[in-house]
Amino acid sequence: MAHDNLTLCHECDLLQCNPPLPPGGESRCVRCGCALHKHRPNSLDRTLALTLAGLVLFIVANSFPFLSFQMQGLETQTTLLSGIKDLALQGKGEVAAVVLFTSILAPGLQLLLLLIVVLPLRFGRPPPGLPRLFRWFQQLLPWGMMDVFMLGILVSVVKLMDMATIVPGTALFAFVVLIFVLAGAQAALDPDQVWERVPVPPRARRSPRTGEQVLGCGVCELVVPEQAATERGDAPHCPRCGHRLHRRKPMSLQRTWALVIAALVFYVPANLFPIMTVTSLGKTQSDTILSGVVFLLHHGMWPLAAVVFVASIFVPLLKLLILTLLLLSVQLKSRWRPRERTRLYRITEAIGRWSMVDVYVVTILVALVHLGNLASIQAEAGAVFFCAVVIITMFAANAFDPRLIWDEIDRGRPLRVTS
Ligand SMILES: [Zn+2]
Ligand SMILES: [Zn+2]
Repeated sequence: MAHDNLTLCHECDLLQCNPPLPPGGESRCVRCGCALHKHRPNSLDRTLALTLAGLVLFIVANSFPFLSFQMQGLETQTTLLSGIKDLALQGKGEVAAVVLFTSILAPGLQLLLLLIVVLPLRFGRPPPGLPRLFRWFQQLLPWGMMDVFMLGILVSVVKLMDMATIVPGTALFAFVVLIFVLAGAQAALDPDQVWERVPVPPRARRSPRTGEQVLGCGVCELVVPEQAATERGDAPHCPRCGHRLHRRKPMSLQRTWALVIAALVFYVPANLFPIMTVTSLGKTQSDTILSGVVFLLHHGMWPLAAVVFVASIFVPLLKLLILTLLLLSVQLKSRWRPRERTRLYRITEAIGRWSMVDVYVVTILVALVHLGNLASIQAEAGAVFFCAVVIITMFAANAFDPRLIWDEIDRGRPLRVTS
């Protein structure tokens, strides 16, 4: 059996054969149900077209005014970058750095890396350093949060409606289209078709011998016999993309516990302290996350209030509870419903980023409203704690290794390939 016909499920560690996929078909793990491979027709052509469109939109979205704020004859305009600069000037550099990375740097780098990789491949020439460039692209994926930023814009506009007139700028239109184009490029891209073009050294091409341990690469999904991965040095590395290989994420339980506890500690001040102070016509009012939700409710915006409540208050807590449950179940060597527990983990990984919405709302409001005593908005300590909660819970979900859930089920079972 050739090496490229095997997949080691990255969620339950089951070694299985890849079935031949029809155009548009997808394969799932037979044991835990996680998505393994998906065939995407005309992948390179479609990805390249969308990436080029995305780059043009990205430049427009970052060069022109985003929103204008008009109040009593005065007007302020903001670009994406000026919002982040204002936040940094108010002494909230940590939050500014996170917003800069997630709303500008990560999506921009993703598009650039995609272009560098896909353009030469489309013409049959792998670019120099392809494995490393594409690995960076894949690792950046969870950190691009333009869709969440868009929700932040929507909430901000609703909050300011009573106070002033908000006029959308050119960049906003480019930004909205860019979100769809970027999502389309990611959906069109078939990573398998890129990795297929990276040569695998002959030593790693052999199939595993009966009973021999295999390692699966978390980035390019190559399945390598353990010996073939360690031949180059002491620590095992993927022979195709160079990623460090581990049977399980190192110190997974300890790191996840530490991050879960840290996030729980920060969750308290994040909800108790105000995230911003609004000054309007001489009146000053501080807002916590919860009072922001109440504000939306009072203005009859209950769907938006529900979204902000779920994203900012419910989701971080749910994530922490699920991670605690998973940690305890692994430590108590539980055999209880491994498939459902894996699914819970998958949900935790997927929903966490939506909690960033309130951080973006603060950034946008601070950038838009700075008319001195007439109207201004100041970011407060709660925003820093809240931003820390979101980032720490994302790292916590990343530190947890779902394969630990299945270790108890697999104990004593011989290694075999499932087809
Ligand atoms: Zn699986
Ligand atoms: Zn690899």
